[in-house]
Amino acid sequence: MSKNANYGSEEPTYAKNFYDVIIIGSGPAGFTAGIYASRAKLKTLIISGSLPGGQLMTTSEVENYPGFPNGIFGPELMMNMRQQAERFATTIIDDEVLKVDFKKRPFLISTHSETYEGRAILLCTGASPRKLGIDGEQEFSGRGVSYCATCDGPFFKGEEIAVIGGGDTAIEEATFLTKFGKSVKIIHRKDFLRASKILQEKAFENSKIQFVWNHVVTRITGNKKIESIDVNNLTTGKTQNLSVGGLFVAIGHEPNTSIFKDQLELDDKGYVVLKENTRTSVEGVFAAGDVHDYRYRQAVTAAGFGCMAALDVEKWLSENKSHK
Ligand code: NDP
Repeated sequence: MSKNANYGSEEPTYAKNFYDVIIIGSGPAGFTAGIYASRAKLKTLIISGSLPGGQLMTTSEVENYPGFPNGIFGPELMMNMRQQAERFATTIIDDEVLKVDFKKRPFLISTHSETYEGRAILLCTGASPRKLGIDGEQEFSGRGVSYCATCDGPFFKGEEIAVIGGGDTAIEEATFLTKFGKSVKIIHRKDFLRASKILQEKAFENSKIQFVWNHVVTRITGNKKIESIDVNNLTTGKTQNLSVGGLFVAIGHEPNTSIFKDQLELDDKGYVVLKENTRTSVEGVFAAGDVHDYRYRQAVTAAGFGCMAALDVEKWLSENKSHK
């Protein structure tokens, strides 16, 4: 294992694979943290993960990220953030983390090709929307199939929209989508919702929302974009075809935390548990963005959490110089 940094001198010297902070993940949280940490003169490494740039790399136009009055394409926004982090000397490695060891100090992070040592670690691995796993889902993703109403709703003006799910997200998104769609059908596999009562009441009172109970979507079809869906009645077994111009899948998210299991505290759904501000249950390991935040899940909130976590890391490192 390589030697650690020499913190006694003004200009610390570092071994090749040794960093003050290693950020795992490269969505808005990871890049924002990289910008703040490297501007604070911390030797900073971002390991980007299997989808460098994160979820925004798979979206088209982003209209709600402040600072871009005419919108910006998701991949362009992420490229800008990457360049901004690199400008302040953040090292970015496009590799995937396979194993972490938070029991050792410095912490050990292993990728396909290397092992890195970090005095502090920041988890920004995000979450992935749960997929239906049906025919046409991948083909029409970004062409009528969406996993985020806040991001894509305004593109569906005047369309017949369907939303799948019966939780808070599905009901909140369906209500939001009535601002744009001609009508919104909520397709749910049960005959009752798990969403909170207040959201349910709002949806029941909304004349633009119709409920399709006890149904699941089994196939998505179209040409250049989505045109219709097959829905199967779980009570009768019958399948019918519905015309739709947009389909929003809101059946939950899965945090990307499988490699952290047994290393720190996760909640029963797998999200990282924060103890104080952005600190996790392991001292020196911090988290930011969708990996702990199941509620807001916006690019701008993830960026905000990334900033907060980098400030927390900087403070913790300055108070814990012995952690090398
Ligand atoms: P949830 O896990 O709460 O709900 C997922 C919904 O999708 C459930 O109704 C579930 O059905 C359904 N579902 C799951 N898998 C499938 C499938 N393969 N096919 C069809 N349907 C499926 O996720 P949410 O994203 O709605 O919420 C996550 C958390 O975020 C919750 O704690 C929620 O309270 C919170 N939240 C809070 C908000 C607020 O307070 N304003 C807003 C948004 C989220 P079933 O019911 O049958 O299990």
